[in-house]
Amino acid sequence: MSLLIRDATVITVEPRGHIFEPGAVYVEGARIVDVGPSDEVVRRHPTAARVIDGRRKVVIPGFVSTHNHVGYTLFRGRAEDAGLGCVTGMYFPMTTVVTRPERLAVGSLTYAELLRSGVTTVLEMEEDADVYAPFVERLGIRSLMGVMTLDVEVDGLRHDRYRYDAVLRSAQLRQAVEFAEAWHGKADGRISVIMAPNMTISSSPELLRESRAAADRLGLRLSIHLGWGPAEGVATRRLHGVSPYEYARRNGLLAPDVVAAHCYVIEDPDIALLAETRTAVAHCPLINSVRGYIAPVGEFRRRGITVGLGIDSMFSDYFEVVRACVLMARLKEQNAVTMPTADALELATMGGARALGLEREIGSIETGKRADLVVLDYRVFGLTPTLDPIQNLVYHAHAMNVETVLVDGRIVVDDHRLVHADGSALIDSAQDAATAAWRRFVAKYGGIMAK
Ligand SMILES: [Zn+2]
Repeated sequence: MSLLIRDATVITVEPRGHIFEPGAVYVEGARIVDVGPSDEVVRRHPTAARVIDGRRKVVIPGFVSTHNHVGYTLFRGRAEDAGLGCVTGMYFPMTTVVTRPERLAVGSLTYAELLRSGVTTVLEMEEDADVYAPFVERLGIRSLMGVMTLDVEVDGLRHDRYRYDAVLRSAQLRQAVEFAEAWHGKADGRISVIMAPNMTISSSPELLRESRAAADRLGLRLSIHLGWGPAEGVATRRLHGVSPYEYARRNGLLAPDVVAAHCYVIEDPDIALLAETRTAVAHCPLINSVRGYIAPVGEFRRRGITVGLGIDSMFSDYFEVVRACVLMARLKEQNAVTMPTADALELATMGGARALGLEREIGSIETGKRADLVVLDYRVFGLTPTLDPIQNLVYHAHAMNVETVLVDGRIVVDDHRLVHADGSALIDSAQDAATAAWRRFVAKYGGIMAK
């Protein structure tokens, strides 16, 4: 089908700083066929199956979230105030009680929320992430997805005991590989499977090496958490004698096809390791600041490290992440003009695309790229006056301002509504699932934080 968005403000992101005002985008099938000044594009493509009147509207490339656990919306309103202890006291214990249908209910809600906030590509890593693939296919979003694996005995972790289990390892790897064999490249290419060992303290060297080997054999990318807390560094040094970054490097998990999530607990030699190995970083400024940390994103960029933005978990209004990216960078460097808004938008789109190896396909509004587009309504409270569309976008916009979303040229959010899912049903199922999972959690662990 063909689609024309005309008389809009089109923020292309690349070429850098290019804004057509008024501009137009013409889409045929899955691709952007034309973009430019509105009168010229309309002259070349006067008709389309669908025409969107873009007056007082802003068109941007779809956002890319390079780090998510959609099912961790289970912890929304629970883990935000729980400190870093939530990793071993909530996240790992929950894996022993939550069911696959419950995870599906909560994660589907989050995927829908992300899409409604203009996120068209999500890197999702989670225990049992395979459960989401049919929903991702139906919803119409683009997702890199990996079964988040471990081979450590989960209930030992919060007592600082690390017992690795070869039987668990092979079962986990089998699940991850079977998911890749079933779904990699499916949903018209919108689903790419990745290998995703959770973190250094939950991974033996064998798990990391076998994950790397499977990725190379099947042509998959990888992701891992790195530099998420002081306890991770202490345990990794004690167990393996090196920093988490060096441990990851030795076992094949620092490389150009790897996204390292967080990296806010990091020393200079480890920043050098990321740069040397050309590992990409998923910078998650919102969740990181909730934990009291912020990654040195300015330094990463000065060293030439590829950086994308990620939500991580519990949140799903991506505009909050873009905003946090600017605010936290300025706090970190005590500098009121570092991380200009155009840079934050670049990280949110092209930066993410580069981190995921998709820079030729998505991340900007350019002829020949996939039509992953977001149309925002600016004729609303909160975005008026529009004097600079990018500053309004970064400082003042919210998910509710997203009117239309396209992925691969297909309209997946139309007039604020999901086209391929029932929003109210998703909300009710997620509420029921979370209530049931937490009831079981409290029964097993004696409270909302495992002791
Ligand atoms: Zn994470």
